[in-house]
Amino acid sequence: MNIKIVTVAGSGVLGAQIAFQTAFHGYTVKVYDINDAILEKAKTAFQKLGTAYQADLNATPEQVEKAIQNLSYYTDLAAAVKDADLLIEAVPENPAIKTDFYKKLAAVAPEKTIFASNSSTLLPSHFAGATGRPEKFLALHFANEIWKHNTAEIMGHPGTDAAIFDTVVAFTKTIGMVALPLHKEQPGYIVNSLLVPLLGAGLDLLVRGVADVETVDKTWMVATGAPVGPFGILDVVGITTAYNINKIAATASKDPGQIKVTEYLKKHFIDTGKLGVVSGEGFYKYPNPAYEDPDFLK
Ligand code: NAD
Repeated sequence: MNIKIVTVAGSGVLGAQIAFQTAFHGYTVKVYDINDAILEKAKTAFQKLGTAYQADLNATPEQVEKAIQNLSYYTDLAAAVKDADLLIEAVPENPAIKTDFYKKLAAVAPEKTIFASNSSTLLPSHFAGATGRPEKFLALHFANEIWKHNTAEIMGHPGTDAAIFDTVVAFTKTIGMVALPLHKEQPGYIVNSLLVPLLGAGLDLLVRGVADVETVDKTWMVATGAPVGPFGILDVVGITTAYNINKIAATASKDPGQIKVTEYLKKHFIDTGKLGVVSGEGFYKYPNPAYEDPDFLK
């Protein structure tokens, strides 16, 4: 199946990035959100993304303008999806909102439309029933700052048609992504299945007083050749997200170590406004964090 028209539902942080990346690669992209005021915000986000693409990817102003021209805006779901070959869903990470969205979408989308969810933590099998077309539904997970961190994790549920899966894998390559197919449903996909335990282990070593921030990062960087260690990564991810993930895990597990990590992050980072790269300081100070200094590894 040839994908030409893509609808992106939800024009927040990730939806705006997915829409712009897809439009930048020449597709007609229809952006759907719940009201006009939010779509106006998305237009501002697209202008900012255009600036970032010029700075980070050497995109020309003409390429950015073309991408903007490929975007159109809708608050009517039926109109937004009328001709869509693919709909990428990036509505809030809330099961009730997503289920309600898929039920409404199922009622108005043409039969041909493939549905793909960008959910970070919810499995596609959870929503397959609500879509009314489980064989044409899967997860397609992008990373924040999609134009730089260009991973596309493609993950079906047991009822996803193999040909649909392959179509989506092929599509992601045409929008500049590195396609990463998963053969089974996996909470956290590949990236977070690797990253969350690494970051958690770093925090555990720190909070139990085994080693300090710099030593933990230095160990990881020297031993594996990685350009950044767990605490440098935590600053990029943002301490707010790290705190929220830890808090949810600690509440579920009641593990004393995890509870201590959550309290530590709240006291030393959340309450003091040290939120990582976004606020100019987290475990390191920005710009020019210490771990980028050539002497750091000595
Ligand atoms: P966000 O809150 O920034 O944006 C959500 C958007 O959805 C908003 O514009 C909101 O108005 C809109 N919305 C709300 N209800 C809607 C509805 N019924 N129909 C259509 N639009 C609706 O959220 P986000 O960070 O962009 O996350 C969206 C999805 O992407 C989530 O599933 C999240 O897990 C996933 N994701 C987020 C990130 C990230 O770093 N933020 C990374 C990867 C994946």
